[in-house]
Amino acid sequence: MILEVIIFKINYMLKRVYLDYAATAPVDERVIKTMEPYSRRFFGNPSSLHYFGQQTRGAMETAREKIAHLIGAQPEEIVFTSGGTEADNFALKGVAYAAKLSGNHFITTKIEHSAILNPTKFLAKQGFAVTYLLPQKDGLIKPEDLRAVLTDKTILISIMHANNEVGTIEPIKKLAEVIKKFRGAKKFPLFHIDAVQTVGHIPVDVDEMGVDLLSISAHKLYGPKGVGALYVRKGITLEPFMHGGEQERGRRGSTENVAGIVGFGKACELAEQEMDAERVRLTKLRDYFIKEVMSKIERVTLNGHATKRLPNNINLSFESIEGESMMLSLDLAGIACSTGSACSSNTLETSHVMLALGVNPEMAHSSLRFTLGKETTKQDLDYTVNQLVKIIKRLRDISPFGH
Ligand code: PLP
Repeated sequence: MILEVIIFKINYMLKRVYLDYAATAPVDERVIKTMEPYSRRFFGNPSSLHYFGQQTRGAMETAREKIAHLIGAQPEEIVFTSGGTEADNFALKGVAYAAKLSGNHFITTKIEHSAILNPTKFLAKQGFAVTYLLPQKDGLIKPEDLRAVLTDKTILISIMHANNEVGTIEPIKKLAEVIKKFRGAKKFPLFHIDAVQTVGHIPVDVDEMGVDLLSISAHKLYGPKGVGALYVRKGITLEPFMHGGEQERGRRGSTENVAGIVGFGKACELAEQEMDAERVRLTKLRDYFIKEVMSKIERVTLNGHATKRLPNNINLSFESIEGESMMLSLDLAGIACSTGSACSSNTLETSHVMLALGVNPEMAHSSLRFTLGKETTKQDLDYTVNQLVKIIKRLRDISPFGH
């Protein structure tokens, strides 16, 4: 018992550095404050026509406006979902079932999140054809590679805006131009982007980028978990993913998560005000961290594109060491980071993203992802570099391939 108390106290007193913002971000205090009344006083069902319902309906519509504004869309083009995964599923299956008579071909990439890859596998089993584009070594998809696989049967292209593991930002505007030119006056193919890692972090404008569908998740931009949205360009009809009541203009049944949506709206409002300054601050911290690690530790490589990458993403491979050993040692020193994506980091499978980038399996297993956020300071990064230097030295000393 005494030992347990001591361990608890040591754990509690240990310096904690959170460098896993791509997995999830803490909810901003201002977001929590905005949500609170909608978990208590304002409880009406937004579909109800009485006073109580209209109170929550009003708040929900205000949130919808804020989310739409952040991405340059109209409020009625925003459909609330339970998160990024549902938004991705809705985009893919919604197009598949709505456009069945127009074609059966999907194009996506080998480096998508499982929220895209697993629905495409499901659709392939239903008789749809899927082409997976291979990126270059830096993670970029070439517009000419996309052009080469477009066919008259293609109904949807789904490409992530930025990769969650290595942070590479795709040339969405150029890819959209290829699609637009190919589509001409036809209705298909449509263009969907998974912007879960970018909305609220870098500028996103649906018209400027030329996209038809776009997925967002609130918990990646300091909002609550379990809420997200799919942007659906006006004029596009998708088969509902959730059949039920007439909520969301008949596009998604189920009573809306009002408190979550209100928090999501507030998070988007804050992102709009604070994103530019934060982007500059994080880019400087990111580059500082990379420089420090590279100058203090030997045999390290940066994965992903050197400059076309998320301001908060650092993905490094440390030769001769297992990513999991480093991650666990860092955790003992109070530092949280990840190996590959959070969803796959509890398995020892090689990251599908690293393999698609042509990173050899050994180096893929030696990678760590550090993702920075609002609360990250230079002191946090200095502490992390110091700990990393010690951990890498210790692990290389005991590794048979260490020297
Ligand atoms: N897409 C990407 C690129 C992601 O990084 C994630 C989450 O890590 C998702 C989709 C899934 O989002 P959610 O956790 O809101 O379902």
